[in-house]
Amino acid sequence: MQQIKTIAQMQELSKQWHFSGDKVAVVPTMGALHEGHLSLIRVAKKHAQKVIVTIFVNPTQFGEGEDLDAYPQPLKEDMRLCDLEGASAVFTPSAAEMYPKDSSTWVDEAQVGLGLCGAKRPGHFRGVTTIVTKLFLAVLPDYAIFGEKDFQQLAVIRRMVRDLNFPVTIIGAPLIREKDGLAMSSRNRYLNTEQRQGALSLSSSLKYACEKIDEDNQVLLKKLKAQMKEIIEGGQGKLDYIEILHAESLEELAILPDSGEIRILVAASFGPARLIDNVGITLG
Ligand code: AMP
Repeated sequence: MQQIKTIAQMQELSKQWHFSGDKVAVVPTMGALHEGHLSLIRVAKKHAQKVIVTIFVNPTQFGEGEDLDAYPQPLKEDMRLCDLEGASAVFTPSAAEMYPKDSSTWVDEAQVGLGLCGAKRPGHFRGVTTIVTKLFLAVLPDYAIFGEKDFQQLAVIRRMVRDLNFPVTIIGAPLIREKDGLAMSSRNRYLNTEQRQGALSLSSSLKYACEKIDEDNQVLLKKLKAQMKEIIEGGQGKLDYIEILHAESLEELAILPDSGEIRILVAASFGPARLIDNVGITLG
């Protein structure tokens, strides 16, 4: 497996692959890889002969006071895992390679990214859409795989790709959990034993909501959210949001529709780790 550090080399390699008739898929990550990331590589391999994993801790998607400096970067181990999964190459550019000093161009999606994490982390999605654009222009992929773990991010990227006519097919991949239900995340490494136990309240609250909706499709959403809040705060979580939304538009639901896809999304901090989780429900 090759390691590529410059945009020029990455573009050159991708062009060669395309010239030989291979399809190229990209799996963008910030490293500290876990089973969730590896599942995306497996999805990518189903679509393309060549799979590029990008590993780049993108400074522009971190706000002030967030964990940019603390973000884990076990690059050697990450590369070993990518190699084991059969990735064709990893693209590991430096910050200077991705952002020239006087860089002054941004890509900004102005609707889907406004609420939820966008409201709590101003500038976050502008950083995401800008880096994903730059990674697409470096890797020149046919396919890009993103996890449903970051459900709003996936929606923002789908909208960006549609609006700007990127010739890239976006594929969403299922959220992968630990055996006890905790959504896998690179940030779980920040949790001590007690905080990790408390963080299980995120997935428990979602499970509770699914059961309640299954029992009664007229359930009052306001009441349901209040009960979920209690569960998360019972785990010592500092709640950011609980939202019950239309799965595609991400518009808030006042009542449950008779049919269609809805998504319940939660975010809360447990000690140093701000964690997110979500679940989809098909109604009708
Ligand atoms: P990150 O390294 O956190 O930026 O994530 C890189 C990609 O991996 C994103 O598309 C995430 O949605 C995806 N991802 C992270 N955790 C999981 C998970 N537990 N299950 C599925 N995909 C995930």
